[in-house]
Order: sequence, then structure tokens, then C-alpha cells
Amino acid sequence: MLIVEDEAAIVTLLRYNLEREGFRVYSTDDGEEAISMVKEVKPDIIVLDWMLPSMSGIDVCKQLRWNPETKATPIIMLSARGEEGDRIRGLDAGADDYLTKPFSPAELIARIRAVFRRFRPALTEKTLEYAGIVMDVSGHKVSRNGAEIHLSPTEFSLLRYLLEHPGRVFSREQLLDSVWGHDIYVELRTVDVHIRRLRKGLDYDGRQPDIIRTVRSAGYALEEVPPGEQADADV
Ligand code: CA
Repeated sequence: MLIVEDEAAIVTLLRYNLEREGFRVYSTDDGEEAISMVKEVKPDIIVLDWMLPSMSGIDVCKQLRWNPETKATPIIMLSARGEEGDRIRGLDAGADDYLTKPFSPAELIARIRAVFRRFRPALTEKTLEYAGIVMDVSGHKVSRNGAEIHLSPTEFSLLRYLLEHPGRVFSREQLLDSVWGHDIYVELRTVDVHIRRLRKGLDYDGRQPDIIRTVRSAGYALEEVPPGEQADADV
């Protein structure tokens, strides 16, 4: 794990307690250095102080979330600021949990374990496969017949949802609710646009069969078409 904290006494205390729990602990007191260390060390979890001398913990958090290499690493934010608004700002910046100072090492360890329970299964094990398409959910990677496929986050989420339910027909409304979330307003035809981009992305060499079936007046389904049969024309 990586501790990013400029108060030496806290680092010493945490290092002692976490090493006793079996963690290998790296630490730095600088935000910029933290970002390069995350890329180098690839920690399983980051404990990040909000108030740092040069770059704030919030900015470190945002940068880590923005970078594809580091965006999946769980972050627990530490702060002396306990206001509800601060907590929300911390979580909005991409932190997975938020702990207000002062706290006991035991409390931090409990939070770390809780974050691992929530993230680890999804982060380390989840791979979806269908018809030659392999999705590494945590690594945000997709390949088809071994060739890497590049998708935007929305197309990635859409494909993930379809891969989780191959063969099932989903209406545009259902896809909007599941992929975009039902609390935001998006036009139905947005789904068609993203399906079209997803199809294009999956056809990495222009010769791949289309495995997204358009079901007339119903929606879309992920379905392998047997050779010799034609898929319905795209709308
Ligand atoms: Ca500090």
C-alpha cells in the first residue's frame, strides 16, 4: 500500500501498525511524487491525506482517477476536515472512503479491509467472455480474437452489460437505465449511436461478424449469428 501524508508522526504510527498486519508499506509526503510512485509501485490501496504541502490530496485523487493506469486503485482519503461538504468533495474527486482525523490505526485497518471486500473481487477476478470477446473489467481492457479493442467508457459499459447477459433482448429504455442510470435524461436514440460505435469498435479489422443483433421494435441483444445466416440489418 501507499501512504501519502506529510505528518511524519502519522506515517510512523500507520507504518508500524500496517506492517504488523502484513502490509508492505510505501510512503511519501508529496503529491506529485505520489502519482509517479503509484505508477511504479502499483499499490493495491492508497491512503491519501487531503492537506499536503504542494499539491492537494483532492488534486492527486483526481489525477489518479483520470489516468487509465491508476484509475482502478482504491483510495481512502484522510482529512482533518469533517464537514459533510468536505466528505462529499472527497468522494466526488474519486476517493472510495473518507476518514476524519483523529482516527485510530485500528479504524483505518477496518476501513482498508472493508474497501478490499468491496473492490477486490471485482478488481482482481472479473473477466467476461463471449464469442471471442474477452473483457477484463478491472483493467478496462477488451480484446476480440486476441486483438485489442479500443472503446470509450460508455461503449465499454454498454458492452459490459451485454456481456453479462448474452442472448437477452434489451429495449433501449432498459439499456439507458442500466448503463446510463435512470436519474439522468438521455434521448433514446443515444443508445443507437453508442451501439453503432460499439459495433464499429468491435469490428477491428472490418471483417468481424456483427454479434449485436438489432431486434426490430424491441431493442438489442448480444448474439452470435450462426455462419450462413444474416443478422437483421442495422436500423
Ligand atoms: Ca497533512
